[in-house]
Amino acid sequence: MSTSLRMTRREFVGASAVTVTALTFPSAFPLPAFAQSAPRVVVIGGGFGGASCARALKAIDPKLQITLVEPNKTFVACPFSNNVIAGLRSIEAQQFGYDKIAAGGVTVAAQAATAVNAAARTVGLADGTTLSYDRLVLSPGVDLRFDALQGYDEAAAAKMPHAWKAGDQTLLLRRQLDAMDDGGLVVIAAPANPFRCPPGPYERACLIAHYLKTKKPRSKLLILDAKDTFSKQRLFQNAWKELYPGMIEWVSLSQGGKVNAVDPATNTLITDFGNHTAQVANVIPPQRAGRIATIAGATDNTGWCAIDPVTFESKSAPNIHVIGDACLAGGMPKSAFSANAQAKVCAAAIATLLSGGSPATPKLINTCYSLAAPDYGISIAGVYQPKNGVLADVEGAGGVSPADAPREFRAREADYAQSWFSTVTAEVFG
Ligand SMILES: Cc1cc2nc3c(=O)[nH]c(=O)nc-3n(C[C@H](O)[C@H](O)[C@H](O)COP(=O)(O)OP(=O)(O)OC[C@H]3O[C@@H](n4cnc5c(N)ncnc54)[C@H](O)[C@@H]3O)c2cc1C
Repeated sequence: MSTSLRMTRREFVGASAVTVTALTFPSAFPLPAFAQSAPRVVVIGGGFGGASCARALKAIDPKLQITLVEPNKTFVACPFSNNVIAGLRSIEAQQFGYDKIAAGGVTVAAQAATAVNAAARTVGLADGTTLSYDRLVLSPGVDLRFDALQGYDEAAAAKMPHAWKAGDQTLLLRRQLDAMDDGGLVVIAAPANPFRCPPGPYERACLIAHYLKTKKPRSKLLILDAKDTFSKQRLFQNAWKELYPGMIEWVSLSQGGKVNAVDPATNTLITDFGNHTAQVANVIPPQRAGRIATIAGATDNTGWCAIDPVTFESKSAPNIHVIGDACLAGGMPKSAFSANAQAKVCAAAIATLLSGGSPATPKLINTCYSLAAPDYGISIAGVYQPKNGVLADVEGAGGVSPADAPREFRAREADYAQSWFSTVTAEVFG
């Protein structure tokens, strides 16, 4: 590791320590006792952001009445779902329930939220129930914009899977790879920013290439991209050369990589520069905040939710906080790590606001690991703080894995990736 990177990492760890200490131990936030009945917080969405926030609120003040609204009985995690697609992991290893969250004193409503009345501070559920709140947290993740790519709709996704929400789509892409001939072409269409998990399409390309190399070595993988640059680009491109020479081709925006339309009948992806017919087509369309955020009046014309970087309160819907992929968090990428960190900051801010205090200015961390092969990990880390109304990078903190690291270093990062997944899912779901 170079000296400059060592410095960077040390500064990063220093910044992390302050933040994590403050967020992990509820006693760091002594709160005055509530004079009247316990305030009610409703959290919509039981994924990485919402489930973390519900648990953190209960840990900070057990007297708060917390309701977590989530229609699915089982959550299927996206991190590590690329391993499922490549046949390296079972879908069961991605599944988590809500029993431990409920046992911790959070009321879990197994319903979809269908309405929000910000003036009356109520949430309507699909079964007709109405919940009242003092503060509402939205963590609905992303919706895929089926209107944004000509020819791509929910029916087309059954032929050309996005696999950008884990579950049936993940398994469909897995089955298509299994059924493919040796010598076939796999195409991944990657969207423009912002979208869920910026390194995700390139990690997926690596792990699919790993599968092809070991099972169908005459096959090729083409990435058609709506961008000219992407997260951890140099590290990914080095890994492609080292691990999968000649197998992966990346076509950037300026080389004509943007997919404008698809034809699911023929599995064809259409760009300004030509058509590509794939044996397996993985189409990751543009995205926006989950629909309930728009219903609540929290989205702007970008389709995402602008927030106050100290409290995560919506800039357009008072008493409503938005965390995770649905919010625009400045420099912070849309990741499970970010959603979990934002959830804890938001929970602390809400508890402070409910007790009449002023929330402290936070520092947040994100680290994203990607696997280029099962024993080859790379990472990017950042530290963020409020600046000029957004969450901005703390200069000199964070960094990426060194470009010239030996394979033992990459293997260690792959182990760290596994440990991160076990740790974060244990913290979120119990
Ligand atoms: C292939 C892939 C790989 C990834 N790898 C990583 C990784 O290695 N590391 C990492 O940090 N991140 C990774 N991510 C990103 C990560 O999955 C997301 O950033 C994270 O899930 C965001 O959390 P969230 O709470 O915003 O949304 P989610 O975790 O998606 O949770 C949203 C929840 O809200 C619920 N919901 C939606 N609407 C409603 C409603 N109206 N009522 C009630 N509930 C509702 C949904 O059912 C869902 O359970 C990856 C993503 C992909 C696609």
